[in-house]
Amino acid sequence: MSTNMFVVASRLGKVKPSASIAAKAKADALRAAGRTIIDFTVGEPDFPTPAHIVEAGTQALLAGHTRYTASAGTIPLRKAIIGKLQRENALSYEISEIVVGSGAKHIIFNAFTASLNTGDEVVIPAPYWVSYPEMVLINGGVPKIVDCPAEKGFKITPDALEAAITPRTRWLVLNSPNNPTGAVYSEDDLRALGEVLLRHPQVWVMTDEIYEHFIYGGANHVCILNTTPTLRSRTLIINGLSKAFAMTGWRIGYGAGPTELIKAITLLITQSTTCATSAAQAAASEALNGSQDCVAEAAKLFESRRDRMVQQLSAIDGISCDLPPGAFYVFASVAGLIGRSTPDGNILNTDQEVANFFIEKAGVVTVDGTSYGLSPYLRFSFATATSEIDRGCVALAAAITELHKP
Ligand code: PLP
Repeated sequence: MSTNMFVVASRLGKVKPSASIAAKAKADALRAAGRTIIDFTVGEPDFPTPAHIVEAGTQALLAGHTRYTASAGTIPLRKAIIGKLQRENALSYEISEIVVGSGAKHIIFNAFTASLNTGDEVVIPAPYWVSYPEMVLINGGVPKIVDCPAEKGFKITPDALEAAITPRTRWLVLNSPNNPTGAVYSEDDLRALGEVLLRHPQVWVMTDEIYEHFIYGGANHVCILNTTPTLRSRTLIINGLSKAFAMTGWRIGYGAGPTELIKAITLLITQSTTCATSAAQAAASEALNGSQDCVAEAAKLFESRRDRMVQQLSAIDGISCDLPPGAFYVFASVAGLIGRSTPDGNILNTDQEVANFFIEKAGVVTVDGTSYGLSPYLRFSFATATSEIDRGCVALAAAITELHKP
């Protein structure tokens, strides 16, 4: 071994790359290599940022907002966030309780860095967004994964939460609507979880509400602080502009929580990224203060695509799924395909193998459920054109007819 060989830090030893980002990269690479690919991995709206928001960002640049801002975010943006939390969530926050980051992901990461000591535990209901356990590991914590099967609506029950909590538990991560299942926690669900949490004062709640506007069938988004307000002194709300306003590339997210935690997250920002991009913060202020029609339109569009995708997927032999109540993903069981063999004689034993078969035979890229902590499932994003949904489902059905049942 050469002496100048790069050695990765030991804290990265157990960390996996993001499965959804890797699947998307695979789809892009295959397309670049000339294959016709239908990409169901997409974790972002497929339409551009609304024009009035782009205009605000452009005007900010032209007006000279091209410098560092306060590390916790500009005052106008933090005020816009406070206004949003009051207006949409009936929650009151002060400026000192808000921090802006370069995406919600940045705030989640920094919250773990700011709070976890080696061996501290974080309760993560599975299926989970792929990044939570990895961010916990990077920061020396221990992910305590709690299985939440389809029969429980992919949601953590009060009993399962109670059983997972130990004296070392620092956080419960709640994500409603959920990526990858679309599960939405109702007021009753949250009240019941809140009762458990009130018995364990050492446990903080990280509530990731980034898909809050994508809830279908007339249901409403509820935050655990609406049902259990006494948890306010140990709750961090995570949200961002990426999904609701089609602003993934602008990288603006935020946290709302107790001042001491917000201060610690801000300290990390001062010593890492300094601040979120100045013009993006101006665009985000406009997004939150301006007309919300674009959000309602996006939700309506996603709802019709969801219905179309579920109708077609559930008609395919070997795939089963229900209508997800939120987000923009269908988490479909492929248990019916396990054990079947491909024309080359290979038996499909895992959802990863099913995902690879779909790439090879149908040109359809999905993300395997194993990466989200529950198998055998695949995540299909419907943040893509209706014509792609139709083409993809036809291609999948055709590929499946080539499989032999055991
Ligand atoms: N939280 C969840 C559940 C997500 O699915 C994502 C992105 O896929 C994020 C947070 C990160 O969002 P942002 O773009 O604001 O970093």
